[in-house]
Amino acid sequence: MQAKDRSGKLTGPVILAQTEIKSEEFIKIKEASLSEAAEEEKAGDGKMEGTQEAGESHRRETPKEEAVQQETPLETDTGAAEEADEKAAPVLRIVLDPGHGGPGINDEQELGAIYRDTYEKYLTLEIALAMEEELSQYGNVEVFLTRDTDRALTLKERAAYAESVGADLLVSLHLNASLEHNFYGSEVFVSAFDWFYARGAGVGQSILSQLTDYGFVSKGVKTRLGSKGADYYGIIRECKNLGIPALIVEHGYMDEDSDWSLMCTTEALETLGQRDAAGLAAYFGLEKGKALSNLPKPEETIPDYPVRPDITPPEEVWYRKESGKDGRQLITLHGVERESRVMYYDYSLDGGVTYSSLNLWGTGESIQFYMALTGEEQLVFRVYNNYELRTGTDG
Ligand SMILES: [Zn+2]
Repeated sequence: MQAKDRSGKLTGPVILAQTEIKSEEFIKIKEASLSEAAEEEKAGDGKMEGTQEAGESHRRETPKEEAVQQETPLETDTGAAEEADEKAAPVLRIVLDPGHGGPGINDEQELGAIYRDTYEKYLTLEIALAMEEELSQYGNVEVFLTRDTDRALTLKERAAYAESVGADLLVSLHLNASLEHNFYGSEVFVSAFDWFYARGAGVGQSILSQLTDYGFVSKGVKTRLGSKGADYYGIIRECKNLGIPALIVEHGYMDEDSDWSLMCTTEALETLGQRDAAGLAAYFGLEKGKALSNLPKPEETIPDYPVRPDITPPEEVWYRKESGKDGRQLITLHGVERESRVMYYDYSLDGGVTYSSLNLWGTGESIQFYMALTGEEQLVFRVYNNYELRTGTDG
């Protein structure tokens, strides 16, 4: 998960005590807990031990070192040999970053989300290993992992590692969770800026289409900015500072049953990694078992301005109730979202004390459905955009 775990305070039992907070409080708690200070501190802290350790695993050997060793004879070789070398197949260097990792004794950030008697850090590693295996079957690609064991790394160290291997792209793999345990769906976070946005969003959309084929709903490719106007998420910001586009893939919500059913076994986690790999390969035009002499150039539109997140809830939310047959009422629920899109709605029959699970909105500014009502209910609807911001019909 991208948000809750970065604060280190909202995972685990703490959340469970907060399921009944009202919406305004929810927003406030959420905002407070996700302070950029915490995030930026995480990204910038100085733990540097470990990054430069050589030979920790074969995956951490840098291709730059290999390249130097290979190129040495060429310096005394003929010009023809150098020319041949230049015509070699292009290679994309992709760094996979299993989110979190480490004992989590001093820092809950290391564990990630805590649900279902496991930790996010274990699941992201399984996804990454499967993604590495799948991606390695394609030509024109070299795959690296920021970690292939349960070890602690700061966000800065992950980005520095990506730079050390000459990464073209970093994909940070995560699983989500929400305060009220109600959200579901896959989402991707990318930089809000120019080419970093274009590349991240392109790869992200391609991965999301794979994840929706598999069974998740898509919450889309999103950005998030910090108070100083930079990218909010440390891994994206640190990579951008080093010239590397990065994306965070939030596959689904560990604390929501339908999402969990898509990732609750080893096979399911492997499928997620394979889907991620397929999405990435499709975007870059990679082919399995075949190194192409040229890769197609992805069509990327570089935005002129930062692509800003939606920070306001849906506008114009109301409902109409019409009598139907057999005690059923026809409900028309209206919600307008000009900056992003309406994603879900839920309803209360007791004036907002308890709510249904989240239903998908579908398309358009109004949706219609029947409800069996006695007339005694105190009906309230809440309409959400894909940034999880909501507007209720109770005021
Ligand atoms: Zn996470």
